[in-house]
Amino acid sequence: MAFNWFGAAADPIKSFEFRCDRCGGIHSGSPSFANEAPYSYYELTNDERTTRARLTDDTCVIDKDSFFIRGTLEIPIEDAEDPFCWGVWVSQSEESFKRYLETFQDDQTGDGSFGWLAITMPGYRRTASHEQIEHLACNVEWQGKGQRPLIFPHECDHPLYTDVTDGITWDRAIELAQMVMHPQ
Ligand SMILES: [Zn+2]
Repeated sequence: MAFNWFGAAADPIKSFEFRCDRCGGIHSGSPSFANEAPYSYYELTNDERTTRARLTDDTCVIDKDSFFIRGTLEIPIEDAEDPFCWGVWVSQSEESFKRYLETFQDDQTGDGSFGWLAITMPGYRRTASHEQIEHLACNVEWQGKGQRPLIFPHECDHPLYTDVTDGITWDRAIELAQMVMHPQ
C-alpha cells in the first residue's frame, strides 16, 4: 500500500486567471505590466524628452548624466505557475551603465549592478498618487543574451520587498491587476 503524502497535501499549480468584476471579462495568464520609461522621463515636457533624453526599449539617459536600464521585477503568486511581472527601471552609475552597454550583445549572466528603483507602481506607493515610488535600493542581476535583468530590492520594510521575497496571494494579484487595468 502506498501513500503519497506530499502529492495529497500540495495544491495543484495553476495558470493564473480570474473573472473580472470591473469589466466582466476573463483575464488569463499571470499579469505583466511595464513602465515604458523611468519616472524622471515622464516629468519632462514633450520638447524636453526630445532634447534632453535618449530613450530606447532597454536604456534611458537624461541630460547625459542620469542613467537608467530596464529590468523585470518578479513577484510570485501563490499556487500560480508564473509570477506577476513588472517591467521597471533602475538608475545606474555611469560606470555600470557603460559596462551594461558594452556587454549588451553578450551573455551577461553572473554580472550585475546596484540601482535605485526609478518608477511609479500602483499598489505600492506609500507617497501620494502619481508620485514616484520611494527610492528603493536594488540588486540588478544581469541575464543571458536577450533577457532583461532581474531586479531584487534590498531587505527593507517596504511592501515591495516583502512581496518579491514571500510572494502574494491570488486575491492580491487580482487586486493589483485591476488597479493597473481599470484605474478608478
Ligand atoms: Zn477587467
